[in-house]
Amino acid sequence: MDISCTDKELFLFKKIAAVAEELAMPAFLIGGYVRDKLLNRPSKDIDIVCLGDGIAFAEAVAKRFNPKPAVAVFKTYGTAQIKIHDVELEFVGARKESYHRESRNPEVIPGSLQDDQNRRDFTINALSVSLNKDDYGSLIDPFNGLKDLSIGRIVTPLDPDITFSDDPLRMLRAIRFAAQLGFEIDSKTFEAIQRNAKRINIITQERITEEFNKIMLSKKPSIGLALLSDSGLLDIIFPQMMALHGAENVEGIGHKDNFYHTLQVIDNISQHTKDLWLRWAALMHDIGKPGTKKFESGSWTFHGHEVLGSKMVPKVFTKLKLPTNEKMKLVKKLVFLHMRPVSLTKENITDSAIRRLLFDAGEDIDSLMMLCNADITSKNKVKVRRYMQNFELVRKRMEEVEEKDRIRNWQPPISGELIMNVFALSPSREVGTIKDAIREAILDGIIPNKYEEAFQFMLEKGKELGLTPVQAFVIG
Ligand code: ATP
Repeated sequence: MDISCTDKELFLFKKIAAVAEELAMPAFLIGGYVRDKLLNRPSKDIDIVCLGDGIAFAEAVAKRFNPKPAVAVFKTYGTAQIKIHDVELEFVGARKESYHRESRNPEVIPGSLQDDQNRRDFTINALSVSLNKDDYGSLIDPFNGLKDLSIGRIVTPLDPDITFSDDPLRMLRAIRFAAQLGFEIDSKTFEAIQRNAKRINIITQERITEEFNKIMLSKKPSIGLALLSDSGLLDIIFPQMMALHGAENVEGIGHKDNFYHTLQVIDNISQHTKDLWLRWAALMHDIGKPGTKKFESGSWTFHGHEVLGSKMVPKVFTKLKLPTNEKMKLVKKLVFLHMRPVSLTKENITDSAIRRLLFDAGEDIDSLMMLCNADITSKNKVKVRRYMQNFELVRKRMEEVEEKDRIRNWQPPISGELIMNVFALSPSREVGTIKDAIREAILDGIIPNKYEEAFQFMLEKGKELGLTPVQAFVIG
């Protein structure tokens, strides 16, 4: 394996090396940057550890640039950051750590490079490269991290029970790296995660969710999600998802395991989108199934699971400290609607059913169709082909209806304001009733999506409600 740095990076390292010599403070590249460079992955965060005061070192580096870049100092952590163009340099003095049982924040004292490498979470994250005159550019790899990089193994440098008990966030990091890099977690390391899973409770929700989202954003999220399940962590951090597990069998009739189905749906959608929230919609699409499952008249049903599931979205988002904004609303909407296109394929597809779907999904119709497509996971090839054909039919019909009626992002031709003017009403229930009636009549195809017909329909509706239009609006 080789490190290939850009000219800009090499220029930076030369400057840092000069500072190391001037201050007589040996400095080393360390951690994720070295790992990613060896793996040929892009990396813009460069961690530098020096033997001495990291903040003083950063300030000396900044002085060598014209104009001098600002140094962001984090006194509590003894670290300092410099941003040069799109590269972020982080400096820290080498340290030795000791932990208390109830916290992941260690006591820190200055230490050697070896002490600093000992405190790293995995062998592949403990790799270091010298920036010092005598051995500039040489790799310092006390735990054989290079070998683990080449065979794709995640293993702790020291006793994994101590590593994970000291800082339980590392358990999630192990799984996240396995998912991101497509690596295997060493069996002893994984068994230690299983033993220490409960320790995750001392980690803040924000940090847990940050790692969970990184797993969701990996190329094949099922790798990380299955590991979370097998390790016992998922049961603690996301029990609603764990509840999807199991394929019950009554009278010889089973149903599919909704956990593994969900993983497949997430992987499917991930092939088409990097959007975190569409991936979350895939994760949550069947979350209401365990709560609605029934065995009746010889088969399994999950009636209303999309309604229950969509109601669970805000609860899960709040608990996991995910944003409760329009992203959450999108996930909720997609979970609520995810059965609609599929149910259309089972009946005679009427224009009005298509219009309703277009209206309800609005601008999210493409996302909904992407989710529904990803939801087709049967192992039976004939079934899959049939679903796909039906699905294509719905898609085609949607295009035709959209072309004709322009329902997507549609505003009914009669506004509430016009209704109020015509019947001399102030804002009231009647206005809403007439507006809804016009919308429903258009969606059902009773009247066309045109102003004149809708106006006439409004007059009739008003009459039914005992309203009289003001003289200026009476036609003829
Ligand atoms: P990414 O940038 O993808 O999050 P990374 O490994 O670069 O991955 P950082 O959080 O930037 O992660 O950490 C940089 C380095 O600091 C790691 O490579 C590792 O050596 C060390 N490190 C980070 N977090 C921990 C931890 N919880 N326990 C031990 N070492 C850690």
